[in-house]
Amino acid sequence: MWAAGDCCEVIERIRGKYVLAPLGTHANKQGRICGYNVLGGSHAFRGVLGTAITRFVSAGTHMEVARTGLGTREATEAGYDVESLVTVGGTASGYMPERSPIATKIIADRRSRRLLGVQIVGGAQSAKRIDTAAAVLWGEMSVDDLATMDLSYAPPFATVWEAIQLAARRLSDRM
Ligand SMILES: Cc1cc2nc3c(=O)[nH]c(=O)nc-3n(C[C@H](O)[C@H](O)[C@H](O)COP(=O)(O)OP(=O)(O)OC[C@H]3O[C@@H](n4cnc5c(N)ncnc54)[C@H](O)[C@@H]3O)c2cc1C
Repeated sequence: MWAAGDCCEVIERIRGKYVLAPLGTHANKQGRICGYNVLGGSHAFRGVLGTAITRFVSAGTHMEVARTGLGTREATEAGYDVESLVTVGGTASGYMPERSPIATKIIADRRSRRLLGVQIVGGAQSAKRIDTAAAVLWGEMSVDDLATMDLSYAPPFATVWEAIQLAARRLSDRM
């Protein structure tokens, strides 16, 4: 029997625990894997991080939110020695008219220094930055890796210290 999509629980990669994460991005990957396997393949779905993104728009307001990995409570309950902080930055250099605020919460394990989760709340062009953090989590990298990796910069697109990287640098210093 084969099943894919919203009807399935999936492995959350950080804790190795089954969770319900009914999202189109998982359903599509799982459907493709089911198709391969029905025809004799042996592909496996590689799990989720809980990466999600949305936005709220009303007259004069544009707010984006995103998350990946564990929140503080989930990480603490999973036995990690949690350190976290919130940093407020911008989506572009200060003198660019398109700049909007971006608040980043970053969570890591003090013992291993592994990144555990990131959450973003901000204006236009803020939330999709979560994918950088998701890639770091997927690779089981540390907060130091995120703080020092080579990310792009030019004034219309980011600050010299990209917002997520700024949060990682500050958390790295604190730990
Ligand atoms: C409003 C909304 C917004 C969303 N936005 C996002 C988003 O931005 N990003 C994201 O990743 N996910 C999003 N999702 C979630 C995403 O749509 C689902 O996770 C995804 O569609 C699940 O795919 P699925 O194939 O498992 O189920 P479905 O897409 O629900 O497909 C199931 C199909 O089975 C059919 N069906 C049901 N019963 C029977 C039956 N007895 N016989 C035959 N056919 C049947 C249904 O009609 C349906 O066509 C959103 C969901 C909603 C409701």
